[in-house]
Amino acid sequence: GNGYYALYQIDLPNDAESLQLVSAILAALSAKFDTEQAHIDTTVSNAARLAGPVGTLKVKGDSTADRPHRRSQLEHVPEQLVPVSREQLEAVAALAPKPPPAGTRATSRRGLLPLSEILDRHGIEYREQPPDAQGITWYHVRQCPFHDDGRPFECGVGQKLPDGSFAGKCFHNRGEGKGWQEWKAALGITFRHNGDRPDLPQSNDGLPRILVTNRHLHETANDAWDAILNTNDPRWLFRHAGQISEIGRDDEGRPIVSHLSLPALRGRLDRAAEWMRLSKRGELLPARP
Ligand SMILES: [Zn+2]
Repeated sequence: GNGYYALYQIDLPNDAESLQLVSAILAALSAKFDTEQAHIDTTVSNAARLAGPVGTLKVKGDSTADRPHRRSQLEHVPEQLVPVSREQLEAVAALAPKPPPAGTRATSRRGLLPLSEILDRHGIEYREQPPDAQGITWYHVRQCPFHDDGRPFECGVGQKLPDGSFAGKCFHNRGEGKGWQEWKAALGITFRHNGDRPDLPQSNDGLPRILVTNRHLHETANDAWDAILNTNDPRWLFRHAGQISEIGRDDEGRPIVSHLSLPALRGRLDRAAEWMRLSKRGELLPARP
């Protein structure tokens, strides 16, 4: 490693509120002091964090001529150790940049999908970090694709808001200079363009076929609505009191309106279209709506 610790004694309960406070402090410090060359590690907010004992040999990454493995040491120790008060901590936390307002997450200015959704779609495990000084939200992945040492969730990909541009970052020597393109390739991330509808062979019973894999949710949802409207003659589906409802008959044959539960709606969707997914090898397989 080539880093420095600034160690401050705190006395907080190990709960969600403390975690939020410490996370905000790290975000505030990162916003104020991060440069191209130096980063505040904003991942070290949880109480279970381990730190190497001072005086031990740091062997993270390769030992190189200009950055040899060295023992950690105390550079500066105050005469008296005083815990930082909650008031002082809260004063620093208040300087943290506000997270982007709701809505900017969903669609960026360029109309790019949120990176978290892309990672979800690919089944990539990540830990979201608070936005850094450049407005980039980083998603650290469990295993950095560029080396097998280091700890989990140290390196990853990020998205800058509001323009939505992507970034990649590795903190280790072997991953130095790896940007978004390298990360995208290493993680196997692929995109579909908006409105890019794959051609599907016709289903046998004339039902529309809806593909659920590799597509934006809103595209699938649009297709689902089309399919519902196709089957909605005679009309059985209505919007009532803000909920999707259907008209049925009670025991004495009188028409009644009942709200559709999620499983019931799923059943209707299942009958309105043939739901398909693409396997990794490109085979068309049945799917659940
Ligand atoms: Zn890395």
